[in-house]
Amino acid sequence: MAQSDVDVVVVGAGFAGMYLLHELRKTGFSHRLLEAGDDVGGTWYWNRYPGARCDIATTDYQYTWDPELHEQWQWSEKHAAQPEILRYAQFVAKKHDLYSGIEFNTRVDGAQWNEVAKRWSIHTSTGETITCQHYVMATGCLSVPKEPDIVGTEKFTGNVYVTGRWPHEGVDFTGKRVAVIGTGSSGIQSIPHIADQAKELVIFQRTPNFSMPAFNGPAPQDRIERLKADRVTYQHEARYSGTGVPLEDSTVSALSVTQEEAFVMLEEAWQKGELLSLGNTFMDSAINRKANDVVAEFMRMKVRSVVKDPEVAELLSPYKHGYGTKRPCMDTGYFETFNKPHVRLVDLNTSPIRSITETGIDFGKESMEFDAIVYATGFDAMTGAIVSANITGKNGVTLKSKWEHGPLTYLGLTSVGFPNLYMITGPGSPSVLSNMMVSIEQHVDWIRDTLVHMREQGFETIEPTPLAEEGWRVHCTDCADITIFQEANSWYMGANVPGKPRVMFPYIGGVGRYRLACEEVVNKGFLGFELAGSTKKQCNDGLVREVQPDVDMVLDFIATLNLPAMETMTPTEARAFSEASSAMRPSGPEVGEISDGVLPGADGELEYRLYRPATPGPHPIAVYFHGGGWVFGSHTSDDPLCRDLCAQSNTLIISVNYRHAPEAPFPAAAEDGFAALKWVHANAGALGGIADQIAVAGWSAGGNVAAVTAQMARDKGGPQLSGQLLLCPVTDGSHQHRSHIENGERFILTKSLMEWFWNHYATPEQRKSPQASPLLAASLAGLPPTMLVTCQFDPLRDEGNAYARALMQAGVKVEHVEARGHIHTSITMVDMLPSGAPHRREMARALRGFFS
Ligand code: NAP
Repeated sequence: MAQSDVDVVVVGAGFAGMYLLHELRKTGFSHRLLEAGDDVGGTWYWNRYPGARCDIATTDYQYTWDPELHEQWQWSEKHAAQPEILRYAQFVAKKHDLYSGIEFNTRVDGAQWNEVAKRWSIHTSTGETITCQHYVMATGCLSVPKEPDIVGTEKFTGNVYVTGRWPHEGVDFTGKRVAVIGTGSSGIQSIPHIADQAKELVIFQRTPNFSMPAFNGPAPQDRIERLKADRVTYQHEARYSGTGVPLEDSTVSALSVTQEEAFVMLEEAWQKGELLSLGNTFMDSAINRKANDVVAEFMRMKVRSVVKDPEVAELLSPYKHGYGTKRPCMDTGYFETFNKPHVRLVDLNTSPIRSITETGIDFGKESMEFDAIVYATGFDAMTGAIVSANITGKNGVTLKSKWEHGPLTYLGLTSVGFPNLYMITGPGSPSVLSNMMVSIEQHVDWIRDTLVHMREQGFETIEPTPLAEEGWRVHCTDCADITIFQEANSWYMGANVPGKPRVMFPYIGGVGRYRLACEEVVNKGFLGFELAGSTKKQCNDGLVREVQPDVDMVLDFIATLNLPAMETMTPTEARAFSEASSAMRPSGPEVGEISDGVLPGADGELEYRLYRPATPGPHPIAVYFHGGGWVFGSHTSDDPLCRDLCAQSNTLIISVNYRHAPEAPFPAAAEDGFAALKWVHANAGALGGIADQIAVAGWSAGGNVAAVTAQMARDKGGPQLSGQLLLCPVTDGSHQHRSHIENGERFILTKSLMEWFWNHYATPEQRKSPQASPLLAASLAGLPPTMLVTCQFDPLRDEGNAYARALMQAGVKVEHVEARGHIHTSITMVDMLPSGAPHRREMARALRGFFS
């Protein structure tokens, strides 16, 4: 007789539930595992449609927790078919006696949290109520087929099949007229098999999908050898990789090679017959639309090369979504199927289904009769199975109502208001964007270790804090925002189910980065969780990821280079280093014209570079001062940023060099700035600009020069400025701000580098002058409208914030943007860091606004 009160109840006997069962036994937790089906295998139990096959290679799609399995189980193919994967699950279940611990044919109807007892009550389809301390949903991401959303589905009297609920005895379509609706992975895999049998096959396609041939055969020998040689390293690399398969991330931009070269590289990946290799060919295909187009066009070229009828080929070619933004597919003979005379493709965009009828389908202007209809229409993905399990947490709040506008989780594992509830591969974790085996094992390990920790430490409950959960939501959104995934109407975005909120459901930051975040949470004393026992409580509230994800990647990359700190260099060395780094950047957008010239500075000539918009002039002017700590940089060193500002704001940008320290210390830069402004004003017409529409702009030390120049223009009789645009400006050399300490290391501009700059530029006494520290001016009244951008992880953040506040207090019109998750340099990194683009758009808008 099973216990009605246990430590842990688990729902689902797929690969996640099976492994968790093994671990709960090992660690001595009492448990019950409930499964709706009558065997193990989860997705591989339900999805028995013809052609069902895994598209992660067998070298990677297998358990790692039992090393003996690698000797005892041999896969027959590179991409295993469903029957073989199901046999593998059964083999593992038998080997570890898991069957004895699973209650099959048992559904969970609902679960309630009892706040007094600190336990869950689980109600099952057998009429039993089980109570437990911990409740684990191992219900899979793609386990609830989408409700039919086509008119008349109930009318059809022929045979109806749903790919995700395929009859165990199989289906014989021989001699039948068959309709298949849906061309996602399930449709694409099953269609060639159905075509082999059917007398007539009509495929109803709403959206064509990208698919590549699996070229199935034996598992890749090189991968097998790597595994055999050093399984531990192989698995470690997989666990910290982007997708859960140990591939080296590409460092090649699709835009840095010709289309011919790109196609050669893609062909090489194509021949491997592995989805992840193809997707990994270029570093930017997921974040840059133009880079993605290169891959998409390659895929369309492949369709044209197979499908004989050019019109059909065109219909089968995706144009409306980028490669990978909807789950790409692996097939065996899919496109070839459309060359068969008894196979027809119907484009639902031009011939929509009017209704399913008793005998067939009415679509466009036609009616056709069928013996069978196959729905390959997908799943209520990621949340369907969890939400439909009727989970009620604290204060009677259901998970369904909490997630009405999108799932809210901490780490995709837990959710506020639902103590001791765990989701394996839940929304907000890499899950469907990863090799599921790797993600499943990581989640099971995390849950097991957490349960053991709680037991050892005397904690009864664990629940994330609202701050941590909201922080994770923001981080997940930040990760999605830098990609082009959100453009597609995919199930990743919930777009396939009418009424589902449109958010990115899986975590797209990568398997390794996700794992590091989970590890960090634990290592920091369960950061963002409240743990409570009868006599103790612990809560280390906080956020695990705050830096913008693309900025974080750049920081990690820079850390691997082991570069010498700039402040250990001489100014000459630092200048050479800075120039060499700048030479490797993308160039930035095209502008109408770029020309170089010289103008008179305070003590000799200064070089300048003029960026003219492509529109007819004359244009308003921004006199721009570059960054570089007064020590390095030049009129060309912020080239991509100046181009971007020019192109986006339709403003003439004149980037002026100024004399550098230590050769020309304070106040040389300030005096040059003012001299340059006066000259530009006097020569505005000749430059193609408008004399009474002039602003100053600058970044970092250049922001300091711009701010000081604006004060000098105010104090010395003009020119009258329309505005000042200050990006991470240096405003105060006189004392330490909190951000100097908080952000003093790791974020490129360090506290010690900033001190090195100041030491070259101005003495401690000189720093008290407003011409070095504009924040110290006696009055800021009368300065022009200001756009000031500060970055959360910049040592200069607080002095920038202080300047914005002081300007406002002085009555100046100020727009102050605090760029969340950014560092001192990130907003200038045009075409490198997508997360900076919205802020540059704001800067350009503000610049335009100065002149309106
Ligand atoms: P899917 O990718 O969501 O595809 C569903 C298809 O049905 C789409 O073509 C969709 O069109 C179409 N559809 C949905 N509702 C429709 C309607 N009312 N009228 C007409 N067409 C409609 O579902 P899936 O093929 O079952 O695959 C789901 C996921 O399961 C895959 O993306 C993959 O992650 C996983 N899977 C993996 C494998 C594998 O490893 N080999 C195999 C199968 C499935 P729209 O695109 O226009 O919505």
